[in-house]
Amino acid sequence: MIIQLENNVTSDLIQSVEEELKTLKYKTTHVKTQYGNYLIGTGKKQFDIRSIGHLNGIKDIHVVSDDYKLVSRKWKVSPTIIDLGDDVKIGGGHFSLMAGPCSIEGEENIMDTINFLKANNIKIMRGGVYKPRSSPYSFRGLGIDGLKLWHKLARENGIKIISEVMQVSQIEQMHDYVDIFQVGARNTQNYNLLDELGRVDKPVLIKRGISGTIDELLYSAEYVFSGGNERLLLCERGIRTYEKASRNTFDINAIPILKEKSHLPVIADPSHGIGIRDHVGPVAMASTVAGADGVIFETHCRPEEAFSDGQQTLDYPEATKLIDKLRMLNEVSAN
Ligand code: PEP
Ligand code: MN
Repeated sequence: MIIQLENNVTSDLIQSVEEELKTLKYKTTHVKTQYGNYLIGTGKKQFDIRSIGHLNGIKDIHVVSDDYKLVSRKWKVSPTIIDLGDDVKIGGGHFSLMAGPCSIEGEENIMDTINFLKANNIKIMRGGVYKPRSSPYSFRGLGIDGLKLWHKLARENGIKIISEVMQVSQIEQMHDYVDIFQVGARNTQNYNLLDELGRVDKPVLIKRGISGTIDELLYSAEYVFSGGNERLLLCERGIRTYEKASRNTFDINAIPILKEKSHLPVIADPSHGIGIRDHVGPVAMASTVAGADGVIFETHCRPEEAFSDGQQTLDYPEATKLIDKLRMLNEVSAN
């Protein structure tokens, strides 16, 4: 159950609602975000919500049968739109493309990408400065100095930044230099990191865990939301299965299912989803037709020289063709 409280409700009133629910054997958690004020009630007993609806300080009451609550579409039917400012919006009909290298490599690589994005009217650049690599001997990113340089160049060119945060201690140093924090597949269930991102006033894109279920992704989003941050995006990036022909098995099913279960925007990552450059385009197109609110993909001016994930990275002519197709497909499938 979600009890939406008036934003200016006093703590005495909250306490009286909590006490009332306690008598009904409901456990309550108070959640205050930058936008709303809620009491989450969990309990088994069915009761007539009108019996508490009269209490002062309550705006609305929603019975949500899902175990996750705040990210569920059962109480918020309208899609959430993430507004990054400067007219850059994601979700609720705002189809969004995000592209860039796997890893940020340096000034030339940043400027090549920014120029490519501007030429294709893409407003959000992806790239890692802290890279989770399977081998500790692989390139692990330029770190905070790389991010600062990237931020300076991106701001000069009207480009927004999405970048992965790997641990709690990086949140504060990255905060002023990113527009969206990305939680990587290896960290989807790092609950300390999710709790901390709940306290942040920047949107968070959460990738599906490597072996994570759809519900587990939604629970991870619930962590951040209940920690205070409502501005979330869900990302399908493929899961590990017994199949070895592709890097991961991109779960196209997840897109319509997530859209049905949650009001949050759903983004597809076909690059990590299939891991094979020639097949990134078809998976991106399928995701768009399946209803994704956006696609995030890897591109580089010379993929064969990329510091990481070159095998799944599109060159600029390939990316340009794909972008045109995705925009066309989105038009067709949105109507
Ligand atoms: C990435 O997007 O840079 C990345 C490492 O992806 P994932 O967490 O999905 O593996
Ligand atoms: Mn990558």
